[in-house]
Amino acid sequence: AREVHLVRRPQGMPEPDDFALVDRDLDEPGDGEVLVANQYFSVDPYMRGRMNDVPSYVPPFALNEAMDGRAVGEVVASNSGDVAVGDVVTTNLAWRTHGVVPAKQVQKVAAPQGVSPSAYLGVLGMPGLTAWVGLLDKAAFREGDAVFVSGAAGAVGSLVGQLAKLKGASRVVGSAGSADKVQWLTGELGYDAAFNYKDGPVVDQLRKAMPDGVDVYFDNVGADHLEAAIACANDFARVAACGAIAHYNDTADDPTPGPSNLFQIVKKRLSLQGFIVTDSWQRMGAFLEEVTPWVAEGKVKFSETTAEGIDDAVEAFRGMLRGENTGKMIVKL
Ligand code: NDP
Repeated sequence: AREVHLVRRPQGMPEPDDFALVDRDLDEPGDGEVLVANQYFSVDPYMRGRMNDVPSYVPPFALNEAMDGRAVGEVVASNSGDVAVGDVVTTNLAWRTHGVVPAKQVQKVAAPQGVSPSAYLGVLGMPGLTAWVGLLDKAAFREGDAVFVSGAAGAVGSLVGQLAKLKGASRVVGSAGSADKVQWLTGELGYDAAFNYKDGPVVDQLRKAMPDGVDVYFDNVGADHLEAAIACANDFARVAACGAIAHYNDTADDPTPGPSNLFQIVKKRLSLQGFIVTDSWQRMGAFLEEVTPWVAEGKVKFSETTAEGIDDAVEAFRGMLRGENTGKMIVKL
């Protein structure tokens, strides 16, 4: 198997030398284990946090070992009665071509006709559940709400806006980092408006796009985006605090400024709910029941940006942090 190991903890933007490609022989699957050949694996923003040696809601990646994360692969050898050779499964075996894992830790994939199993790393996987739980459970979205989504053309954000539209939002606005992404949001995904946050101050662009204010803000970015959403929030607006990617490469010497207007949370009686999707994993069944048919029918659209081969996985991860993905960034093997 070929694996990507973390060999040095990144400072700021991860550099290629922080990682190493390592070839190693795998043991045969033991009792109750399966050998999986990966077809796809996911590179995600939260992995940047796991590269730091700090306590968090998931343990840091160990140095000189394969990193983990969500993957889809085919079982090529099985020593378990529950999983057969040829089954396509999701696992935690990212950042490697092959891996051996207990059969009870894999989930069989039954993708609808015409939908790639890689969708279970994005729109029908952890990012999709994040969008659904964040909007519905955490921001308590109600029909008629005006919704602002940052990171709107990413894996999570691209689903948030579509869900809000399907559930009767009065207005859905997204921000993203390129003209093409803005075009995709309004032209394909049904966002009412979108803007490129690199074109000018977020607060000015948001105020123009949402003159009647924001009832729900789905925050993937933090920093200037959160400040702008607070500035444009209506009384009693709700914020689902999902991520803060503007800060992930911060160093002690070079921090990205955070919002300077937190007192408006008091004045406007805002609710801001941070959440971690793994706490809501029991909602996966209800999420898939609602969203799978929409994906199968094309009512929910999704996009994947695909890197080819494990040798490009580190560049795929770095590219995702720089915004080179539209929708989910995937490594295809
Ligand atoms: P995305 O697919 O959205 O990829 C990351 C995107 O972030 C890039 O494409 C880039 O797009 C954008 N970005 C990078 N730097 C900046 C910046 N400085 N300012 C604004 N945008 C930036 O990733 P995901 O959909 O997987 O994740 C989105 C967010 O959700 C992340 O913050 C992530 O940590 C969080 N998350 C939280 C979970 C939870 O349980 N709370 C679970 C899953 C994800 P652009 O071109 O627009 O800049």
